[in-house]
Amino acid sequence: MRAWPPVCGGLWFPPPRDTINYLMTDRHHPRPNRPVYLDNQATTRCDPRVVNAMLPWFAEQYGNPASAEHVMGKTAEAAVEAARAEVAAILGADVREVVFTSGATESNNIAIKGAARYAARAGDPRRRVVTVATEHKCVLESVADLRDEGFEPVVLPVKPDGLLDPDVLRAALAEPTLLVSIMAVNNETGVVQDIPALAAIAKAAGAMVHSDLAQAVGKIPVDLTGWGVDLASVSGHKIYGPKGTGALFVRRRPRARVMPLFSGGGQERGLRSGTLAPSLIVGLGEACRIARLEMEADNARVSFLRDNLLEQLERHIPGIAINGTMGHRIAGNLNITFPVETAVRMLERMPDLCVSTGSACSSAEVEPSYVLKAMGLTEAEAARTLRIGVGRFTSPADIDYAAATLAAAHQGPPHGGRHAGDHLAGI
Ligand code: PLP
Repeated sequence: MRAWPPVCGGLWFPPPRDTINYLMTDRHHPRPNRPVYLDNQATTRCDPRVVNAMLPWFAEQYGNPASAEHVMGKTAEAAVEAARAEVAAILGADVREVVFTSGATESNNIAIKGAARYAARAGDPRRRVVTVATEHKCVLESVADLRDEGFEPVVLPVKPDGLLDPDVLRAALAEPTLLVSIMAVNNETGVVQDIPALAAIAKAAGAMVHSDLAQAVGKIPVDLTGWGVDLASVSGHKIYGPKGTGALFVRRRPRARVMPLFSGGGQERGLRSGTLAPSLIVGLGEACRIARLEMEADNARVSFLRDNLLEQLERHIPGIAINGTMGHRIAGNLNITFPVETAVRMLERMPDLCVSTGSACSSAEVEPSYVLKAMGLTEAEAARTLRIGVGRFTSPADIDYAAATLAAAHQGPPHGGRHAGDHLAGI
């Protein structure tokens, strides 16, 4: 790649200072040049600054934050509260609105099932729960599970560009609706829905609003106080934090009511019982702090790399098609249908390039992506599609390797001794 450092709108954006320091001093956790990781919507590398922040909370400071009667407990509690403040800050929320969970799957389950069950038990006659066909499985399944409890799931279609038509939402809300759940950023296409506008429509119809922010936090500015959202879900490992941690935003004014899924010790204001994990929570807080301070610079750099990759692919592979609008999309995502027999065959030819055929959980199945099918792609087109996720730790060399590897792999032949891109990348 030639044009480096990145230029965006005539301005040069250097990588953030901390990132430079880290890249220069990361001798304790060296990452080999191969494989090249471009699957940052599946998960991200835990930022070494996050790892450093977490380390003392495993073996040195191991108190239970609920043990407020002694110093070890109090120290852990203070760390958890500092992390809560960081999560609240990146969400534009109050600290009292943040509940720690194990990740976005759990947050989505509590939000959707918990809100529906609370309302039903409080005598609310409404049963309609509305969501969108391109949501993550954990949202779609949570909504579907409610059918057994007498609720009426409604799954809305999207336009071919991946966006939800506000009129389609309005039409669904003609029936009294309890809850609307719409993700802010799609995990396969990176398409960004206009949550403030859609939430306003749902609120005008009297519905509660939940948004899955797993792919949005740290990628787009979030302001839950202003957005009119009642419940929102966060995942640690999508934002260079640890796996197994996340948060649920529960609005205080007006108060969003949810019924907890777990019975237990009543931690997290009774909404999520279970001993808190200070190490993971400190990691989530540090990941949020870094994302809040560096999002702009990260996005400039990541979109420069993503655009460069796309430009190289368009030059070398005639007939590729981008899925999802480029106008409303996070910086790092590409979702491309290739002129090949199947994307799986391409993956077989590029063992050193980590990209995926769909969302992390559905790529274990050979099923073509339901997200792409909801956007109007045929099964065959969906099966020829790869998701590519550029991230904070992607280098220009990674981009060149990926471009060369994809260009070679789309033509075949099947993987032999050398890797698909080696001759093109000059390595
Ligand atoms: N929602 C979206 C949009 C996601 O991309 C993911 C992760 O794949 C999840 C929810 C689940 O998040 P977690 O892995 O934290 O449970």
